[in-house]
Amino acid sequence: MDKRIELPESFNYIAAFLSLGCNLSCSYCINHTVGLNPRRKHLSGKEWISFLNKIQPKKNLPITIQGGEPTIHPDFYEIIKGIDSRHAIDLLTNIQFDPEVLMNQISPKRFDRNLPYPSIRVSYHPETMDLNETINKVKILHDNKFSIGIFSVDHPDYQQEIVSVANACEKLGIFFRTKELLDKISHTTYGTYKYPEAVFSDTVKNCMCKNSELLISPEGEIYKCHHDLYNRILPIDNVKNENLVIKSEFRHCSFYGRCNPCDIKLKNNRFQQFNHCSVEIKLS
Ligand code: SF4
Ligand code: SF4
Repeated sequence: MDKRIELPESFNYIAAFLSLGCNLSCSYCINHTVGLNPRRKHLSGKEWISFLNKIQPKKNLPITIQGGEPTIHPDFYEIIKGIDSRHAIDLLTNIQFDPEVLMNQISPKRFDRNLPYPSIRVSYHPETMDLNETINKVKILHDNKFSIGIFSVDHPDYQQEIVSVANACEKLGIFFRTKELLDKISHTTYGTYKYPEAVFSDTVKNCMCKNSELLISPEGEIYKCHHDLYNRILPIDNVKNENLVIKSEFRHCSFYGRCNPCDIKLKNNRFQQFNHCSVEIKLS
C-alpha cells in the first residue's frame, strides 16, 4: 500500500483545483488576477484519485473540489466516486451542469459531513448567471437531500440581484450567504484583511510566510498560497513525489504586497469561527 500523507494539525483546508478554466466569465473573477488559463495541463481522474486517497483522512476536514469550475474536468464524476469514502467532499461550483446528471451519478450521502455550512456551495454571479435557472437547479438538489447552498459576492453593482436571490432562498428554505468582495475598485479596497499592506500594493517586500492549507493545482503541483498557484511560480512539491511530506513551516517569500486576497482575508475557519487567516506572515 502507498505511504499515507499526514497533514499538519494546523491545516484547515484541502483544495483540489481540478481546473482553472471556467464555462463562465465574470469580470471580477478572483482568478483574473493572472487570467484564467484553460490550457494548463490537468491531472487525469486516476491521478487525482491516487493522490487524494494517500492523504490520511481527518475528521471534519473535507477535500474541497474547486477551480475555476471543477465540473468541466472530463473525469469529474470519476474523481468524486473514486475518492475514499472516509474523506468528506465539498464542491464549489457555478452549477452550469444538469442536476439530474449529478443525482444519477452521486448519492447525497457522499456530501454528508458534520460542519455548519453546506457541502455543495453554488456561487451565484448575477453578471453571468440567470437567477431562476440557478434557484431551480439548487432546489432540485436541495429537495433531493443534497447539502447545498448559494453564495454571492457582495458586489456594489449587484445589490438588487443579491436581495432577490436572498429572498428567493429564504422562501424555499435554501441556505444563502454573501461573501465579501475582494478587490480594489476606483481607489476603494474591498475586503477585510489580516495584513492590509499585503494586497493591492505598488511595492513588494520580503517576508517569511506559513500557510494552513493544502493547495493542489490542476497539473498536480503543490503551492504555499493562491498567489503562487495562480501565477504558477515556486511550487513547493508535486503530487507525484513518492516521498512527499506536507509540512507547516515558515517559507521565504518576496511577493508580500502582491498577495492574493484569498490568502490574506480574515474569514471563518471550517467550524465557522471568525478571525481565521490562511497564512501567518513575519516581515523580514
Ligand atoms: S463562475 Fe467563478 S470561476 Fe467562473 S468566471 Fe465566474 S467567478 Fe470566475
Ligand atoms: S506573503 Fe503572500 S505571496 Fe508570499 S507566500 Fe505568503 S501569501 Fe503567498
